[in-house]
Amino acid sequence: MNPFLELGIREEVVNAISELGFEKPSEIQEKAIPVLLTGNDDFVGLAQTGTGKTAAFGLPLLEQLDFSQKHPQALILCPTRELCLQISKDLEKFAKYVDNVHVVAVYGGANISDQLRQIRRGVQIVVATPGRMLDIIGRNAIDFSNVKYVVLDEADEMLNMGFKEDINNILSETPDEKKTWLFSATMPAEVRRIAKNYMTDPVELTVGTKNTGNANIEHHYYLIKAKDKYAAFKRIVDSNPDIFGIVFCRTKIETQDIAEALIKDGYNADSLHGDLSQQQRDKVMKRYRDRSLQLLIATDVAARGIDVSDVTHVINFSLPDETENYTHRSGRTARAGKTGISLSLVNVKELSKIRHLEKIIGKPFEKKQVPQGAEVCEKQLFSIVKKIENVEVNDEQISPFLPAIMENLESLSKEDIIKRFASLEFNRFLDYYKNAPDLNIEARDGGREDRGDRRDGRSREGSKGYTRLFMNLGSVDEFSRGDMLGFICNNANISGKSIGKIDLKGVFTFFEVQDAEVEKVFQGFQGVDYNGRQVRIEVSGETRGEGRSDRGGRSRGGDRGGRREGGYRGGDRGGRREGGYGGGERSGRREGGFSGERRDRGERSSNGGGFRDFSGKRKESKSKY
Ligand code: AMP
Repeated sequence: MNPFLELGIREEVVNAISELGFEKPSEIQEKAIPVLLTGNDDFVGLAQTGTGKTAAFGLPLLEQLDFSQKHPQALILCPTRELCLQISKDLEKFAKYVDNVHVVAVYGGANISDQLRQIRRGVQIVVATPGRMLDIIGRNAIDFSNVKYVVLDEADEMLNMGFKEDINNILSETPDEKKTWLFSATMPAEVRRIAKNYMTDPVELTVGTKNTGNANIEHHYYLIKAKDKYAAFKRIVDSNPDIFGIVFCRTKIETQDIAEALIKDGYNADSLHGDLSQQQRDKVMKRYRDRSLQLLIATDVAARGIDVSDVTHVINFSLPDETENYTHRSGRTARAGKTGISLSLVNVKELSKIRHLEKIIGKPFEKKQVPQGAEVCEKQLFSIVKKIENVEVNDEQISPFLPAIMENLESLSKEDIIKRFASLEFNRFLDYYKNAPDLNIEARDGGREDRGDRRDGRSREGSKGYTRLFMNLGSVDEFSRGDMLGFICNNANISGKSIGKIDLKGVFTFFEVQDAEVEKVFQGFQGVDYNGRQVRIEVSGETRGEGRSDRGGRSRGGDRGGRREGGYRGGDRGGRREGGYGGGERSGRREGGFSGERRDRGERSSNGGGFRDFSGKRKESKSKY
């Protein structure tokens, strides 16, 4: 007998979930469904994302609601639009063979009248993000007086996102005798408080160990110098040719910059962050799901609730500010019983964060070595060999050309031909990684290195009396060194004599400015756009988070702060093949490997000033995410 039938799920639903490939209940389903099917208890389930939570509460709901009635009987609150859509779609799939089930997804950033129309037509299950839900309640457009069940999904996330008040207000609209089912990946005091305030003797279940990440996730870290971060990241990606990853950055600026650099270097990458319109986000997500993108570069906020199967790696390009976010990030991989790797690129100063995270997730991180150039080449070579072995040959199409091909290759032995085919792709990597330095450091050496020889608090690359600045324009923007000098002097209204060395790179430039004139440069470039791109100036040291805090606020656009630790714009990469991304130095990637169509970065505002969260609520604080 089907184990879901045994649990008490009706046949129509079991048929539908069998079609989805659910053969047996996941742990949370096995434990929660019997409890929730009684309909008598409040419930707290501690479970990570990807454990099958949606069916754990969704299937019991489908058993308990009266679908002959058309008023709301269940309300599911969740933190993001993505999750809201995911849950409502999942419920519809589970209910495929059940008549008259009406689910509405209520979330911000979408047309409210459509949602109101659906509600008016009659729904039994409302899946909502808190902001939009309150909006609809405020319009008296929904009647919650018959709600029997409220599900708070990813409760910790909702609280993290500042929805506490909203949740309180929404819950007060629902009848006292309803049952509340709360799911959360972690159980901070805030969630505990909600459970205490709104529930009566809830049945508590934990899947896995409390606060522990999914056991199928391996946690790795790489210890590197901050300036080598981007190079190390690329090596890791290059040594995993089949990677399908989500790369987490701390700010939207960082996601954009990394994505831009990767695209220039020939990777299939794009960014997802809070400045994109819903349409742009959907487009990026579609390309990622379709696997036109291999790497999705995202902020924590933007990536919440993403459920894409088969993500092989979560890459913490920058560790999260909130340690709890680490669990959410790593939960994007190893979904539905699969395995995955969550890796972090850290410098010596960040080692303590790794130790802290180990405590949070309850298991140690494995220290990994950034692959040496030769290792990357070997991985790539065998990936090419595998591709050649597995490539589908279209006999019909290729046969007319075969005689000519054979004739051309006649003089070559089989071995020679194999060598040449493999070398076609492989040579680029070989070339790129020739003489590539070892990027690994040991904690002790790194410590010394990181303290550096900064004598005067200035960025250590700056000549005496000069400050080294970063600008986000470079040779790809068709600047020569002379053009750049003119560009700086004109905008800052300073003499060319005040400018020291100009180090023009692909997508950025480092230049030195006499200390006395630095402020003028920051002033002069305020609000300046170049070909639709906002010009950004930063003190170069701070981009690596190694600068003094008093320089922290120097970067243009105060929403960024100046202290992005472990920035990737290592200043001293000039001359090193690996470091300078873009700008003439081709990476080992295939040229034109980028299949995407993103050319719209100029249109994306990057001026901070708050972001629309996915429930359509305006956050007051300036957001970097
Ligand atoms: P969730 O935690 O609800 O987001 O589920 C994570 C993923 O696991 C989704 O893609 C579900 O479709 C899938 N899933 C949930 N339950 C099962 C099950 N019993 N068997 C197989 N896949 C499942």
